[in-house]
Amino acid sequence: MLGWVLFNDKDLWLRFTMSSTGSVEKTSYSLGGALTDFTAVSPQISEKLFLILRKKFVADVSSRIDTPTMGAYVPFLRKALETNPYLFIYLKFYAECLILSCDKRDDLEPVLRSFLCDEVANEFLPNMLLTNDADQTAEWLGKVIGRDMEFRRSRTKAQIEDIVSPDSSLAKYTPAQRLYILKCENSSGLDGSFKMQIASEYDFERTANLGTVKASLINNASTVLAEYEINKPDDLIALELFHTVTNQLPIKKCRCCGEYFVPSGRSDSEYCSRISLGENKRCAQIGAMRTFKGKYAENPIYAEYNRAYKRNHSRLRNGKLYDEEFRDWSAAARRARDEFINENKTVEQFRLRLTELEID
Ligand SMILES: [Zn+2]
Repeated sequence: MLGWVLFNDKDLWLRFTMSSTGSVEKTSYSLGGALTDFTAVSPQISEKLFLILRKKFVADVSSRIDTPTMGAYVPFLRKALETNPYLFIYLKFYAECLILSCDKRDDLEPVLRSFLCDEVANEFLPNMLLTNDADQTAEWLGKVIGRDMEFRRSRTKAQIEDIVSPDSSLAKYTPAQRLYILKCENSSGLDGSFKMQIASEYDFERTANLGTVKASLINNASTVLAEYEINKPDDLIALELFHTVTNQLPIKKCRCCGEYFVPSGRSDSEYCSRISLGENKRCAQIGAMRTFKGKYAENPIYAEYNRAYKRNHSRLRNGKLYDEEFRDWSAAARRARDEFINENKTVEQFRLRLTELEID
């Protein structure tokens, strides 16, 4: 089992154990945000993360006499956990398989089969490439599990597209109806049945006695919720998608990177808050700049400012202005430009101001 999930208003809580001997932990994510962030993970990033685990495993195996344990991977997995529950589930599963490959290799096939989607399992499991070479085994496992992640990621993205896009062939249905129709399709991954239990928002130890529970509930306003068992990544995908859609949370396509997101603040925001590959700014920052430029570029005052800027800049290059003069002039002209645009003044008024600012 991968863990449990419960939904509390606009939050998704994942309960899990870090290793088979560890206690149950809980981490929260924004509902819909976790799933759309997963669909936005670029293959280059996930390949890099799988490679870090593979290299660490190979180094551990070659430098140690005893078999590595999950403990060695916990710091790395915690970082993944902070980022995204799906990424965490995949990387944790990869680490578990690497450890199994050392001394319980016969267990690997059933473990992989219970996790992977049929499409990927049928493609790779008939020819399992497990040798005594740790790196070769780690590479093969990374390839299979990485392939499964990419398969589910792109399938989920296509399903979200079908649910929210106005161009979808299902456009005449409500988003929740579209989800149901997708569920009825073959190999949608959304047709799981779930084992549910009554759970408390407060994390009682599974062994807590009734007296402890009652005493604690008197003092804590703890909500009682449905909690579902997660056995495959598909379980979490289906449950999160279902709760996001039925809670009518807005799923939007970012106008900058084109990936889906669920706005955490204003529901009319058009840009996600991720940093896409090769960028150093968040889409929201890039979007704000674009909106600013768009709003300004259409204004004749903006064009007038640009003309004056070019003229004075060439005076600077030709030695007719000092650096300091140009710097002071451009700062004042920029201030005037923004002020005149914001106050809806005319381009004639702005020209007058530019004349006042001009350096003889
Ligand atoms: Zn974006």
